[in-house]
Amino acid sequence: MTAFSLSPEAAAPRLHVARRTLDRLRAVPALAGRYPQHLDAGSLDRLAQLPPLARDDLNTALAHLEPAADGSATWLFQSGGSTGAPKIGYAPTGFYMAGVHAHWQPLDRTDVFVNAWGAGRMWGAHFLAAALADLSGCRIIALGSVTKDEYGAWLEFLAARRVTAIGGTPSVLRLWFAHARAAGIRLPSLRKVLWLGEAWQPQLDDDLAEVAPGARRWGMFGSTETWVVGTNTPDCRADVFHPLPHQLVHTADDGLLDFTTLDPAMLNPVLRYRTGDAGELTGCPCGRPGPAMRVLGRRDSVVQVRGLGLDVDELVARAERTPGVARAQVVLTERGGRATGVELLVVAAGPAPAPDVERLRTELFTATITLGTAFQHDPGSFRVRPVDELVCNGRTGKTAALVVREES
Ligand SMILES: [Zn+2]
Repeated sequence: MTAFSLSPEAAAPRLHVARRTLDRLRAVPALAGRYPQHLDAGSLDRLAQLPPLARDDLNTALAHLEPAADGSATWLFQSGGSTGAPKIGYAPTGFYMAGVHAHWQPLDRTDVFVNAWGAGRMWGAHFLAAALADLSGCRIIALGSVTKDEYGAWLEFLAARRVTAIGGTPSVLRLWFAHARAAGIRLPSLRKVLWLGEAWQPQLDDDLAEVAPGARRWGMFGSTETWVVGTNTPDCRADVFHPLPHQLVHTADDGLLDFTTLDPAMLNPVLRYRTGDAGELTGCPCGRPGPAMRVLGRRDSVVQVRGLGLDVDELVARAERTPGVARAQVVLTERGGRATGVELLVVAAGPAPAPDVERLRTELFTATITLGTAFQHDPGSFRVRPVDELVCNGRTGKTAALVVREES
């Protein structure tokens, strides 16, 4: 049993793009053997029989194909992988955002939009958001990322400019709004919060209720490989997105989502590409017709700790629900493949009273069966440590929920 976001009739006029992508993948020597000639992409049923692509497969294909845009420059961006050397994805100027803007207009000419996605280091999101804002004709403040000492002054500036919209990854937005809340800064004119790159964080709703009660969230889902796949509005659940008509979303029996681009301008050969996200096709109460995509999160949020599965996202979410905690991160230390310790790093929410670290440690240890069982003989191997900043991957700019460290 499989399901697609497009009906066979709606997909048919666009499937020539998938057929061409299949030809391109067949031209990659390292991948050709996976696509014998009896396989094709002539229909949705046929497409569902193709093998899915993983991130490494796509990088292998791109290294061979080195695609170039027809009518513009070709931009290189970081694509996938939180460790090791940068992997590369390609996009033309415009970043396919005209196709997004045709179906989703969170911004209009009256907006003052703060682009808080980090720029540089081959990150794509800042430029993608800039392209969308450009199409909307609004006023743009290209802020990028700031250091922790700079939030206060910038927040005062943004309040004085009466900004109406801001966009960033949810973990960065949390820092903005937690700082504003702690410093007593209000953004009464802020109406729109655009987000992309991570799941929405419910704590943002709490912060927004105080800092910017008129603000509503507008989400995009995608990756540097697929670019924007779907969008949502304040009337949709935060984990439900409406796929764009040039993005074919498929759910397989194992519950994983895969994506096939049907945009002829797409440079990355995205054909049944898996981001690692699980999900399902569902309806949406907002009333937009057609199947929507519910993203259930990365399957890889569960990590093995002494033979037991520890759900990192759940542990982080539990910690972040604690008053006084703005953000949390799990650091797993291993020696020879065995977990020697789990440390939870917590960033306090501004100058408000710091969280009671020892009490939090005891609560989490008691409530998380995996921790209690794995460390029953050495409970001191689970620690909670207050820090100023979480461990950020300087190369990708991402702050992962989990950091694994190998002890020597
Ligand atoms: Zn909806």
